[in-house]
Amino acid sequence: MKVQEDLPVFYAKKSLGQNFLISEAIARKIAVASLVEGDCGAIEIGPAYGALTKELAPLFKKVVAIEIDEQLILQLEHNLLQNNINNVKIIHGDILKQDLCKIIKEEFANLNVVVAANLPYYISTPIIMNLLKPGLGIRAATVMLQKELAERFCAKPGTKNTGAISYPLWYYSRPKKLFNVPKGNFRPIPKVDSAVVKFDILNVPAVKVMDENLFFALIRESFKKRRKTLLNSLCVYLGLNKNEFSSILNICGFDLQIRPEQLTLQNFATLANLLVEELSIDFKKIS
Ligand code: SAM
Repeated sequence: MKVQEDLPVFYAKKSLGQNFLISEAIARKIAVASLVEGDCGAIEIGPAYGALTKELAPLFKKVVAIEIDEQLILQLEHNLLQNNINNVKIIHGDILKQDLCKIIKEEFANLNVVVAANLPYYISTPIIMNLLKPGLGIRAATVMLQKELAERFCAKPGTKNTGAISYPLWYYSRPKKLFNVPKGNFRPIPKVDSAVVKFDILNVPAVKVMDENLFFALIRESFKKRRKTLLNSLCVYLGLNKNEFSSILNICGFDLQIRPEQLTLQNFATLANLLVEELSIDFKKIS
């Protein structure tokens, strides 16, 4: 592994989640893992000095790199020039404020679009949720995350490590943890290890849901009190008494003692659809 110890590590804004990758081998591994079939274009989030950008550029027809920190952009432009890289477009801005649909249409005609990033950890969850939104046309997102978060994201709904966040992620994609990255591979060295996860984004959501707002609200509400049974945590929220909600759970085939993390995606979909069909429960009225 070639380690670039000469990075100006004194320049790192903690507030922007700046922990720079110093392993070329790991950057290359992420770039290769982010490819999908056919001619591809990549969106990179937070390129900084270009550790990952340099590995993406030769593999992709085009890279669009979005960086919030203007000072880093000057250095990135210089580094790309020095490496004779000319298929990277740099956008200065906040990833959460970009019109990704427009960027994809304008910059990646006829290309399969993926995202690759060593994410700024303070906003990894909202970034990923935005990327998975249906209709954007992103095929996959291969991203570095804090290891614990990566494990939570990859825990299949209905298994031990599931959290409320696992459900929307698995509804829109197939997340898979690829490999761990120990914290010594970054400067400055962060407190925790990282891991790379690839989200293969689904063309259609994993389960059929009649009212997505209600479906996600049931998941959110039941995980607010994850130690409680579904019966106890949801009946007040839904405005039902225990007998009414017990019979709904019975129709779904659920044990009355069932807790949220025991429910699969399909289980929550079944419950949400039944509430709409049988009781005409309308998300707008209960929220
Ligand atoms: N890709 C580089 C690497 O692997 O060494 C840097 C990764 S560093 C963990 C995260 C990067 O995201 C930083 O360059 C930071 O400035 C940038 N960043 C932070 N918040 C951002 C935002 N809201 N929009 C775009 N970039 C952001």
